[in-house]
Amino acid sequence: MKKLFIATGNKNKVYEFKLIFDELGLDIELLCPKDFNDDTEPVEDGLTFEENAIIKAKYYFDKYHIPTIADDSGMCIEFLNGFPGIYSARFMGSYSYPEKNDAIIKIMEDSPNRNATFNCVVAYIDEEGVTHTFEGINHGTIAYKQAGSEGFGFDPLFVIPEYNKTEAELGFAYKNKYSHRAIATKKFAEYYKDRVKD
Ligand code: IMP
Repeated sequence: MKKLFIATGNKNKVYEFKLIFDELGLDIELLCPKDFNDDTEPVEDGLTFEENAIIKAKYYFDKYHIPTIADDSGMCIEFLNGFPGIYSARFMGSYSYPEKNDAIIKIMEDSPNRNATFNCVVAYIDEEGVTHTFEGINHGTIAYKQAGSEGFGFDPLFVIPEYNKTEAELGFAYKNKYSHRAIATKKFAEYYKDRVKD
């Protein structure tokens, strides 16, 4: 069975990747830093989602020499000129997500422009060390109050206009198909599937 290293310590992300691969019928052995008792992480000092995804994939590929995928993702708020964007994971440091989400709601209090996107770039480094990238963007709006309990991070804040519900209310059934990560991962998986066939 083909091995694929997922360069993340976030178990929610590993779970989301696994569900997407299962859904696409991709039979691969997924490994992550935890399987190597590795809790080190590279410094994400890129200026774009793409640069950071490549930094993460390269860090683990150079260590374990296993084809590796990494994603970098975040939420970009139009009213805040794209903030928190690539700083999403670092925004407000060790505060809890309910606290971070409430802070965003407060900052957005007087903004009629609620538009936001979730962005994701998946970087894949293949057996030959060649890098490929795949992008996913999902459009939404910022809620006036948090809602829902499935998912993680900014999910209770991010409303999908079509359903008038947050991603945390819509849950994995929605995210596995339509989230920014699902879109980028599916692009990767389609590419990978074709290659594995050869
Ligand atoms: P990364 O792990 O460096 O890609 O950081 C991603 C950060 O963006 C997370 O810590 C969350 O704050 C936010 N984020 C990314 N994807 C999602 C998602 O699917 N739901 C909620 N928040 C997300």
